[in-house]
Amino acid sequence: MNNHARFRAFDRRTLLKGTAAAAAGMLIDPAFAATAPQASPGKGAKLVLLGTKGGPRVGGKRANPANALVVDGNAYIIDAGLGVTAQCVKAGLNLADIRAIFISHMHSDHELEFGNLVYNIWAAGALHRPIDAYGPAGLEAMAADFWRLNHMDIATRMVDEGRVDPASLLRTHDFIARQGHVMTQDGVSVTAFTTPHPPIEDLAYRFETPHGSIVITGDTAYNPALADFARDVDVLVHEVLYVPGVDELVKRAHGTSTFRNHLINSHTTAEQVGMIATRARAKKLVLTHFVPGDMDWITDDMWRQAVARHYKGEIVVGRDLMEVPLRG
Ligand SMILES: [Zn+2]
Ligand SMILES: [Zn+2]
Repeated sequence: MNNHARFRAFDRRTLLKGTAAAAAGMLIDPAFAATAPQASPGKGAKLVLLGTKGGPRVGGKRANPANALVVDGNAYIIDAGLGVTAQCVKAGLNLADIRAIFISHMHSDHELEFGNLVYNIWAAGALHRPIDAYGPAGLEAMAADFWRLNHMDIATRMVDEGRVDPASLLRTHDFIARQGHVMTQDGVSVTAFTTPHPPIEDLAYRFETPHGSIVITGDTAYNPALADFARDVDVLVHEVLYVPGVDELVKRAHGTSTFRNHLINSHTTAEQVGMIATRARAKKLVLTHFVPGDMDWITDDMWRQAVARHYKGEIVVGRDLMEVPLRG
């Protein structure tokens, strides 16, 4: 069985268990977390799109922003929008396999479930070793605030259930450089790049793995320098905005031209995403963080065609729980 096939076999098995847990009405089945296969989960690297809708609104066919990168059985979470834990379970990911969490920026659609994700791993009995979390300035304070917010429950469970303090198993790191090395672990090397997302900034992450490379932009205004950071990457995962959809979004929200300008100026249009992917010489482009992400009249073909005006490579219009191998 080749690596790719082994990966798929593993996915099916864990997916069935995850689905059974979800069907039983449990957010996390502790037995699933504890007994999921530990040995040799398969070599390879794949992206799992956990939530593909841009913005904090809940509902519709897409979940809030979150991604998992699985490399040789180790999982790395990039962004933790509301619902990230449930999406991990639906995707058949073993919570005990999560090694690190990366937050792109401090907008709630990307970090609302950051603390809860770590809590949920702990509550499932799957937090066996320290997890590292990386993000912009403010993430360390957010982690400290989260433990304070939940101290009554945690203290009770520590006494009642003999659990270890979860705060001691989360190492949070504010990334304050403009660009540079973030971490190297288990053959995976990560760098970050600061890109404008007015009025704040965003960290794009680049992962180099033994099975290919991937850049995940987070939210960004059109930024050609980001293409240089993503040069020759195997998979470029880029946020995307569809201008005719934004006009309808503004109308629906009774928004002003200020609201429209904010959206256009802080995100990247589908046409501009094509330009970035071409300049980066990306081998494959994955669209996610759709704005708007809840209008059915915007078809996959419409997203694809807008991007394809400026990019001739492979375009994947992302969907929740879709898996994309880094190579092949
Ligand atoms: Zn966002
Ligand atoms: Zn944002």
